[in-house]
Amino acid sequence: MSNLSNDPPLEGGCQCGAVRYRIQGEALMTALCHCTTCRRANAAPAVAWAMYEASQVEFPAQQPTVYESSPGARRSFCARCGTQICFTADYIPGLIDVTIGSFDQPERLAPAMHSWDSKRLPWVQLSDTLPRHAEFPPQE
Ligand SMILES: [Zn+2]
Ligand SMILES: [Zn+2]
Repeated sequence: MSNLSNDPPLEGGCQCGAVRYRIQGEALMTALCHCTTCRRANAAPAVAWAMYEASQVEFPAQQPTVYESSPGARRSFCARCGTQICFTADYIPGLIDVTIGSFDQPERLAPAMHSWDSKRLPWVQLSDTLPRHAEFPPQE
């Protein structure tokens, strides 16, 4: 994707700065998710995610706090300020989704599709031409 290998690593973290991360290499997938659990967990109309191999993402200081947001799926956030940082699930073993909104430079990586468009709020009307999947994108 647009994060070229000669770019500096992507870095990010939570609002208060307690949780910081660094990402090496390119994202496997990016999406703007309209699902109800992303919406509730982030208290936001939709959430932009970038997917990586777990080994690409390191937390040099404090690890985010993890909770099971639905059976087999886990969301991680800063226990101090509440910023949502990542998502992992049994159905995507070895992979980790990171919130693009927590990047220091979120403009460096754009969503390539919409997921769970069937749950999109009626007042969220975006004029992009990205693919829209009713639920998850089809597995490749
Ligand atoms: Zn924090
Ligand atoms: Zn979602």
